[in-house]
Amino acid sequence: MSGILVYALHYDGAINKNSLGAVSEGARLASELGTECHAIVVGDKAGLGDDVLAPLGAFGASKVFRAEGPEGLSQPVVDAMAKVIGDHGHGYALFGGGLLGFEIGAGLAARLDAGVCMEVTNVRVEDGKLVAERPILKDSQVSDVHYRSDVGVIIGRLNAFEATESGSGAPEIEDVDVEFAPHSLKATMVERGEQRGADVNIEDADVLVAGGRGLGKAEGFEQLEELAGALGGAVAATRAVVDAGWYAYAAQIGQTGKTVAPKLYLAAGISGAIQHKVGMQSSENIVAINKDANAPIFEFSDLGIVGDLNKIVPKLTEAVKAKKGA
Ligand SMILES: Cc1cc2nc3c(=O)[nH]c(=O)nc-3n(C[C@H](O)[C@H](O)[C@H](O)COP(=O)(O)OP(=O)(O)OC[C@H]3O[C@@H](n4cnc5c(N)ncnc54)[C@H](O)[C@@H]3O)c2cc1C
Repeated sequence: MSGILVYALHYDGAINKNSLGAVSEGARLASELGTECHAIVVGDKAGLGDDVLAPLGAFGASKVFRAEGPEGLSQPVVDAMAKVIGDHGHGYALFGGGLLGFEIGAGLAARLDAGVCMEVTNVRVEDGKLVAERPILKDSQVSDVHYRSDVGVIIGRLNAFEATESGSGAPEIEDVDVEFAPHSLKATMVERGEQRGADVNIEDADVLVAGGRGLGKAEGFEQLEELAGALGGAVAATRAVVDAGWYAYAAQIGQTGKTVAPKLYLAAGISGAIQHKVGMQSSENIVAINKDANAPIFEFSDLGIVGDLNKIVPKLTEAVKAKKGA
């Protein structure tokens, strides 16, 4: 095998943090395998200058393949990655996860007849090959996935790979001309919009203030938005409140929502059901506010506050603001 190719998603003039984590992971594995980690971006070249691509080098990619093509669509990226892998013989394609990562990775695996493993939380080297580790059975067990195909596709769980600066600086940039398949250009991006309550990227936030049914009503989120604002973080939600229409689905954490690992996860009025826990249990610090001292969330919290969130949250916000102003 010769190299690991990592897809780097970008929007609003910056490479997404989850993709930088994948590049870091790719660089670590490439160095163990004695090969190189490369990144690939697809989009409007005018918006993909050296300054935008520089972090990819800083996080470990020695080379970045840059293809001019439609942004935000999966099939053109599949075409571009298939071409680069065909031309350069990469042994693995690595993705940081997220909806687009899943879609592109699955499409690439189908195109290359490659083995694919999703929701990977760790990758290790064994006998000169990569082995993907994937949690199964609601995260109670980990399965090892070995690849038999020429190319192995590895799709990480969102934010599973830590972004660590390890590279030596500016990457080499190689422009690639890709002939997109006619079907790849059938879809066009008409508009990118954000749902109310989904205008902050919860995957990239270091602080998440999450609300559950204990908020009582949709307006209950206003106090969480204020606290999140004071802490410089974002607001997240449980499925119960998303299903009730109190908050946007894009903010849902858990089995059927997003997986996050912020530095601080503050849960207000959340019981801590297993389906919610699997999406946030890797957070560095978990603080829970719940009026029920026997709520399951206290079993996996670093700090628990038993009481009425409507009294505690405003006081907390006040204290944070006072501390910041001090
Ligand atoms: C297949 C499947 C997939 C699922 N996927 C997800 C998922 O992705 N994400 C997810 O979150 N759930 C998911 N669920 C739902 C999950 O099982 C729980 O029902 C849900 O997480 C509960 O949400 P909650 O904690 O907001 O509400 P509840 O369980 O109703 O908890 C509310 C909590 O608020 C506390 N409370 C009430 N009032 C106050 C107050 N004034 N002050 C402080 N505390 C208060 C209560 O004591 C209680 O503990 C899934 C379920 C299934 C079956």
